[in-house]
Amino acid sequence: MKVEKKEAFQPELRAKENPLFSMGGVGANTVHNNYTKGAKFSRRLRRARQRVVRKILKAKTGFAKGSLGKQIGSCREVNFTDVEMLRGEAAYYQGLVTCQNFWLCPFCSAKRAEQRREEVNGALAVARQDGKQIVLLTFTMQHRRGEQLAELLEVLQSAYSGMRQSPQFRKIQFCGLARALELTWGEANGWHPHFHVVAILDAESPEAALEAVEPLRAVWVDRLQRRGRDGAEDRAFDARGGSAAGDYITKWGVAEELTLSGVKEAKNGGLSQWDFLDRAAQEPRFAEIWWEFAQATRGKRLLQMNEDFKQLASRFEEVAGEPEVEPEFVMDFEDWSAVKDRQVKMLEAAESCADIDAARVAIAVAMHNRGTDRDLPLEPEGEVIEEKRHRKTEGFRD
Ligand SMILES: [Zn+2]
Repeated sequence: MKVEKKEAFQPELRAKENPLFSMGGVGANTVHNNYTKGAKFSRRLRRARQRVVRKILKAKTGFAKGSLGKQIGSCREVNFTDVEMLRGEAAYYQGLVTCQNFWLCPFCSAKRAEQRREEVNGALAVARQDGKQIVLLTFTMQHRRGEQLAELLEVLQSAYSGMRQSPQFRKIQFCGLARALELTWGEANGWHPHFHVVAILDAESPEAALEAVEPLRAVWVDRLQRRGRDGAEDRAFDARGGSAAGDYITKWGVAEELTLSGVKEAKNGGLSQWDFLDRAAQEPRFAEIWWEFAQATRGKRLLQMNEDFKQLASRFEEVAGEPEVEPEFVMDFEDWSAVKDRQVKMLEAAESCADIDAARVAIAVAMHNRGTDRDLPLEPEGEVIEEKRHRKTEGFRD
């Protein structure tokens, strides 16, 4: 089945215009010298974050054999063949080893999130075309500062499976479920692990879909109580439907909510994993928080789709494919090891001019300049202040 992208996911497409989106740098529209500032700075930021991640992991594990995150140390640094630089919408490299750590690696997690976002959007587009209803559910629980993340996660997961086995849950006609695990941390209440679930339902209207899932509220609170947890007067369960969620879903998009947790701001002064990683560079206690996060998420699934959901996603066909791009610069092993610490500068040089000959000169200059990517400022003066203001006023919930 072919779905016209534009018609099918208007709400999700709008998220691309969101300033947060370009802050995250995922899916930003970019053409050579027109490469957005947000995307450019987010690549620098990811590189800087990768250095902080490595530093913490090295201190904690010494990168011993089989230790957590060992491969992050070589992600996008080590090559397995000649390295090619290509200029598509943005400039990028081919031939580099990636770590595939979707929780901890700033690059791999962003790439994965973008793939997952497209997959979820595809499934939702097909579901809408089929006349189904979409509901976004959030499952949380009460927690206190000082509680261990691993323990909280265990309660959350077991309460969720308990709820799934309940007769009330089984009675609901779901046509697809996708569940994302999200973890934030706040000064007041410590760890805040929660699930976001996108549920696709066969229902007459958005209101009917919300009504169908409402019995889950009592079940969720009950399953928490059985584990000695409080549902805080039903607030642990939240359901939003197509129309009721209105602005919220339109601005941000269900798929973004599910897959781009690293990009949005956490609610109530909570910090996302990238927020506390950024603070870890200055304050050691945040490195400890990040390390707890790193250990607790090991082996955990970021996003889980059931078979029905995957089926819907598989019915979605991309209309436009990726344009073919020819490599414009090839580096062998020796070349690469000499310049890999300047790889971001070289990409920026490649993007600085649309004309290929001019770009080649710029790349050569960046290659032979002294200094490394560490010298790159992470925030342009003036510009980011503007973006930060946007982030505040958007007021996304977590
Ligand atoms: Zn990686």
